[in-house]
Amino acid sequence: MSATDPARPTAPGPAQASSAPGGPPFPAERPAVPSRTDGAAHSQPDGPTHPGVEGPALLAADSPGSVPAPRLAASRARGLGPSRTDGSEAAPAGGRQPGDPHLEAGPFDLVVRSRRVVLPGGERALAVAVRDGVIAALLPYDAEASAAERVDLGQVCLLPGLVDSHVHVNEPGRTHWEGFATATRAAAAGGVTTIIDMPLNSLPPTVDVAALAVKRAAAAGKCAVDVGFWGGAIPGNAAELRPLHEAGVYGFKCFLSPSGVEEFPPLDETGLRAAMRELAAFDGLMVVHAEDPALLTDPVGPTYRQFLDSRPGEAERRAVERVIAAARDTGARAHILHVSAAACLEPLEAAQRDGVRVSAETCPHYLTLTAGQVRGPEFKCCPPIRDEGNRDELWQGLAAGVLTCVVSDHSPSTPDLKTPDFATAWGGISSLQVGLPAIWTEARERGHPLTRVTEWMARGPAALAGLPAKGRIAVGADADLVAFDDTAAFTVDAAELRHRNPLTPYHGRTLTGVVGATWLRGRPVTDSTPPFGALL
Ligand SMILES: [Zn+2]
Repeated sequence: MSATDPARPTAPGPAQASSAPGGPPFPAERPAVPSRTDGAAHSQPDGPTHPGVEGPALLAADSPGSVPAPRLAASRARGLGPSRTDGSEAAPAGGRQPGDPHLEAGPFDLVVRSRRVVLPGGERALAVAVRDGVIAALLPYDAEASAAERVDLGQVCLLPGLVDSHVHVNEPGRTHWEGFATATRAAAAGGVTTIIDMPLNSLPPTVDVAALAVKRAAAAGKCAVDVGFWGGAIPGNAAELRPLHEAGVYGFKCFLSPSGVEEFPPLDETGLRAAMRELAAFDGLMVVHAEDPALLTDPVGPTYRQFLDSRPGEAERRAVERVIAAARDTGARAHILHVSAAACLEPLEAAQRDGVRVSAETCPHYLTLTAGQVRGPEFKCCPPIRDEGNRDELWQGLAAGVLTCVVSDHSPSTPDLKTPDFATAWGGISSLQVGLPAIWTEARERGHPLTRVTEWMARGPAALAGLPAKGRIAVGADADLVAFDDTAAFTVDAAELRHRNPLTPYHGRTLTGVVGATWLRGRPVTDSTPPFGALL
């Protein structure tokens, strides 16, 4: 639809965190971290391990059922840890296991203490000890620990760095929409330490190995967080899928309806199944923008309601059913991107119960915004934001584990493409930096604890992409950490957000939860630190 990707719109405008009561949420010099003691390395060995904190037990502490779809987890670990094909989460970081004296003895490079370290099983008072970029030990909060740098967060929470597996960076080719430098700074400011970049809207789209090389060259040296890449499945590139997989993409995105950019056409039924058969041969993952084009229409007018009517929930449900059938028939793994319509939950749940290898995600805007709140084209995305009852059902789908990931679908454009006419405006929402507080604001009102939020925004996406060293605080995992004040509030000011074009539907909203500091593999990431994110 429109000259712009129906599926991913962009926003003109505003959106970023502005100072809230209690101080600027995203200080230019990040570490607004309480009580830092630098350089006080002393030589005592680490204190005794907390009686209730056994490394191995922590690793095993994942709450059962919290991250279903083990089948979809890590098929490859890219040197980050043992490769898992059964989906179970294992100790990452090659060769280093909890209990290894080398890990648990000091001195460390960094120790971060918090009375509220958010682990898979709940919150604990701990000291997280880091060496060589990896979490080396989980010690009692008040343990003696020799370290080059020590930080005490007190009651401020320590979360695992979030993993956002759905980000459109658009560089090269449409860098004026969004680039690696700006997107990854926004990610870091929002507590996201790993992103997986979508294969379209940049030029060339990532549909063969040469294009992946162009992408990686464009990203090199610019990334403030770790970045991985999805490949694309389009008509005619079936022969490119295996080489792309071998070159390191985490899976393949396809559309069933027009993508909004002509260089990334959709797959028809025959093409979808052919691609999934190819992926099944190497246990690849297909991630699908699922709207059935047969049920989409051109909006009859410029209003949001007319746009919404043109993309009914039934179009999503019908497409989801097609993907499920293809996954069932081919044996390939499939993942439904940005579920907007609650009508998709029933077929997804049934398929998962039957053992079909299909998982699904939704996005902050579907969980926190409603059609009645839409004020302008910065709210336009495909599939669209629907009504309040639908939103409530999506929360139920998350709580039940049918949906396992909450990711941004950050898909910016320049403001001029966000025309006031909803029929023609670019579809795509910019929210990478504010997804965590947006979700936390809504989750806490609905009674979901932070540990669930980290399942949806860190562990779930890490499992989807196959990144066992990411998305959780555990011995052997990468020391990607976020200080998060879960009670502070701030009002989003688009102009202060780090992404390139200052548009977001969250502009002016007051949210709860402020990211105070972000560490990537044990090193603080601030606006002034040179980018040291890795290309995964
Ligand atoms: Zn997208």
